[in-house]
Amino acid sequence: MPADPLHHAGQRLRSTTSRPPSDAEVSPVEVRRSTRRRSTVSAYREGGRTVVLIPARMSEAEEQRWVTVMLDKLAAQESKRSLGDAELAERAGRLSDQYFDGRARPASVRWVTNQNTRWGSCTPSEGSIRLSHRLQGMPEYVVDYVLLHELAHLLVPGHGPSFWRLLEAYPRTERARGYLEGVVAAGRLPHQPPSRTE
Ligand SMILES: [Zn+2]
Repeated sequence: MPADPLHHAGQRLRSTTSRPPSDAEVSPVEVRRSTRRRSTVSAYREGGRTVVLIPARMSEAEEQRWVTVMLDKLAAQESKRSLGDAELAERAGRLSDQYFDGRARPASVRWVTNQNTRWGSCTPSEGSIRLSHRLQGMPEYVVDYVLLHELAHLLVPGHGPSFWRLLEAYPRTERARGYLEGVVAAGRLPHQPPSRTE
């Protein structure tokens, strides 16, 4: 995910593993060696620290490599969880400003886990937008597309030419639709109508 800010935080860690910068997001790393461990490496956050558990016999170079790998892995896991409802609403506001002159103003934007046949949905009368949790972990431009799609429905119901004209303002509409169609085609989400967003 090239545009993922948390992933970039991971990249920053990569070059400074031995001496973490004084960035609030970067926690100190504590490496614990265990004689009970033979080959497994694990890592977790504990308080303000990141603990990496490695086998006692591991070399200094291997330790460095594994710390980097595990920090990236943790950052990737956290980035998938990081976009909460509040961030989602904030993002929707930014997208509306950028592409629709701020005309689409949702009353609520949130993730839902009960949407199995749709990526997103919208109730214009309530101004509410819901996004399927299965978009989490997909590239940001895809999530943005689904958000914009639902925002556009606050302005134009249905999928007529005027609806798609609105979406044309977003340069990655076609790419995002292709991505979602690809996800469906790959069978990762069976019984899903192709890139259906309502
Ligand atoms: Zn739609």
